[in-house]
Order: sequence, then C-alpha cells, then structure tokens
Amino acid sequence: MTGGSIRSLWHEAPDLLEFEASVLDAEPGRVRLSHSSFYPGGGGQPADRGVLRWAGGEVRVERIEADGDLVWHALAEPVLIETSVLGVVDAAFRRQMCQLHTDLHIVNALAFQAFDGALVTGAQIGDDGTARIDLDLPGADSDRVRALEPAINDAIRQNLAVSQLYVPADTAAAERGLLRSRSVSPPPQSDGTIRVIEIAGLDRQACGGTHLSSTGQSPPVRILKVDNKGRHNRRIRISLVG
Ligand SMILES: [Zn+2]
Repeated sequence: MTGGSIRSLWHEAPDLLEFEASVLDAEPGRVRLSHSSFYPGGGGQPADRGVLRWAGGEVRVERIEADGDLVWHALAEPVLIETSVLGVVDAAFRRQMCQLHTDLHIVNALAFQAFDGALVTGAQIGDDGTARIDLDLPGADSDRVRALEPAINDAIRQNLAVSQLYVPADTAAAERGLLRSRSVSPPPQSDGTIRVIEIAGLDRQACGGTHLSSTGQSPPVRILKVDNKGRHNRRIRISLVG
C-alpha cells in the first residue's frame, strides 16, 4: 500500500475535466491513480462518468471505489493499464449533476428559511434531469412547499456566486444551519475542517459534492411533486426545464 491520499481534483479544480495521472497500482479491470477528477459519488450525487485513455486504447470508468487512501477506478473491461493515463470526465453529465446539486441547495435554503430550520433527511440526484430532496417538515402544507418554485427560479436568475470554503469543525457545529443534514453531511477533511458551500447572500451549508460556480448556470426548475413520506419526511422532486 502506497501512502498519501488521492488528490481530489473535483474539489481543488472543479473545471478540470481532463487530467493526466500516473498509475500507482493496477489489476485487470482496476487502476489506482495518483490523482483524479472523477467525483466518487456520495451525498446523493452519483459518481462521475467518463473514460481513461492510455497508449493501449480507451476504457470506460464504471465506478470509483473509495476506501480511505485507496481510490480505485473500476473499468468496464478487464484491461491492465500500467502506463500513465489521460482521464476524461463526461462533461455533460457532470454539468447536469452540478446544476441539480446546486438547485437542491437553493430548494433547501429557501425551505430552511420558510419553515424555520427544516433539516435535510435525504437527497438523490437522478440521471434523467430530476432530483429529490427529503426534508423534515412536520405539519407543513404541501401547497406552501410548491409555492417555493418562483423563489427558486429567482435565485437562479440572480446568478448568485457559489464558492467553497473550509471551516474548523467546531466553528461549523456552532453556526446555525451550517450542518443541515442528518444523512448527507460530508466527513471532515484530513485537517479537521469541514467543506462549506456558500451561495452568496442566500445560504451556507456543509457539503462534499460538486456545484456550479454561479446559480445562473442552471436552467430554471420546476417542482414536479411534493410527497408525504412519513411524519418527518417531505419529498420534493424537481426537474430542470429546457
Ligand atoms: Zn452540495
């Protein structure tokens, strides 16, 4: 086992979707790289899709197996790659994930304001242009939830800047609403800080996923459905429009 954690380019350089990397370890159908732009999945956001290219050809990345420092790229074919590679993340897929993920932050922020600190109980982004978020909204009227749609689209139209920062875990715990989820909060970084996503003037919350750099990069959204999934679980499904 080689030491050192994988460099998570999806955080450090979110726009870098093609990267060269050296192979640290290889098995047929599996390769461990020095660093990667492939988001491994988590927090309701699916893993990135894409390919690795090397002197012998090209192979699709099927999934990312992250286990501490061991981050393997599982490949669609049992090839053995022992040279350096060019990783290419599927840009259209990543862009849609970033749009839906950022839009879920907006939904969540507006619900948090409108319903006095509603917490997130789950979230899942689909590959069909829709995503859902589950919020703890006991007793809330579903029509009031649906009525958030114009405010969501206002926040998109205002093209608010989205940025990431790292705050110490104890500071994060002390800020109301920063740790908003019981189920999808990111683990602290190796230096003990928590990654926070800020939408300027609207929201700050801990998150480990990938996001747009401004809200206006998303098309408008529609609230497709608001379902009751138990007393502490209101499920809101949104769809990108156009
Ligand atoms: Zn997020």
